[in-house]
Amino acid sequence: AKRSGRDQVARYDGAAKTSVTPHRLEAEELRHAIEAGEITPVYQPVWDISREGEPVLHGYEALARWRRPDGVLIPPAQFIERAETAGLIGALGRSIFRQAMRHLRGARDRRLSMAVNVSVRQLVAEGFADEVLADLVEIGVEPARLSLEITETQAMEAPELSLATLRRLSAAGVSIAIDDFGIGFASLAYVRDLPAAELKIDQRFVSGMPDNGKDRAVVRAVVELAHSLGMRTVAEGVETPEQLALLREVGVDLVQGYLLGRPQPAEALMNLGPLGEDE
Ligand code: C2E
Ligand code: CA
Ligand code: CA
Ligand code: CA
Repeated sequence: AKRSGRDQVARYDGAAKTSVTPHRLEAEELRHAIEAGEITPVYQPVWDISREGEPVLHGYEALARWRRPDGVLIPPAQFIERAETAGLIGALGRSIFRQAMRHLRGARDRRLSMAVNVSVRQLVAEGFADEVLADLVEIGVEPARLSLEITETQAMEAPELSLATLRRLSAAGVSIAIDDFGIGFASLAYVRDLPAAELKIDQRFVSGMPDNGKDRAVVRAVVELAHSLGMRTVAEGVETPEQLALLREVGVDLVQGYLLGRPQPAEALMNLGPLGEDE
């Protein structure tokens, strides 16, 4: 680890001599990391609580992690936005997506699904839907096992452009989920018109449960809205048994959170297969 640390320093020094700005350098480092396969998904289990009894494993959400050669693990908050501004989110997103689909293909349980986060910049890029569908065919995963998550705020950025792409993906069987629902500005008309199958209730509403009556009321209302539009609800950030009990009581369909499982690499998960060779 020490040696790669020194290599890093050497690279910075070398670049500084050719007067590359730190801004530019970071983008280059990120580009290299994507190409070198240093950015990989970890997987958090998603549980179905819509039936009586213990939660049933529904699938996983893929969450990006940058494992630097020096062993440092960098969370997505530190590189996703950078990838977006550097024009690298297409390559990064596709790499995460393909890795997640290859892990899913190796799963013994063919009913398991996989949720992958998508940035609006990917969504509005020409040919995004075709690329996703072609990758699914090539890797061998049925579209119905994939859920694409787009944040409420981002979905509002380019409503017309993204709508056509989302409709095309949805028509092919891919589930669309509106992430971080409740903290953005999506109008009800927009939610109504989106071909989304799931609303993901942001964890800040969950964290107030069960003590905060207002949070409880919001979650209850979102569940009602979703169900009356024929959508499912997913609650994220479930950390306590009390929260889980209450979410069940108000009719939330799916949950994820530290209480039921932290994000882990595929190797640590019984239910996901090996990555296999890239084809
Ligand atoms: P998100 O999609 O809302 O993901 C949920 C975040 O909450 C994850 O953080 C997850 O690790 C964390 N989390 C899960 N359970 C709990 C819990 O019980 N308590 C608490 N406090 N946190 C919990 P993470 O992995 O750091 O990801 C942060 C955000 O980065 C994600 O938020 C997503 O918007 C973005 N992101 C992650 N991977 C990708 C990716 O491949 N592409 C894109 N475009 N965005 C990504
Ligand atoms: Ca998400
Ligand atoms: Ca979220
Ligand atoms: Ca193979």
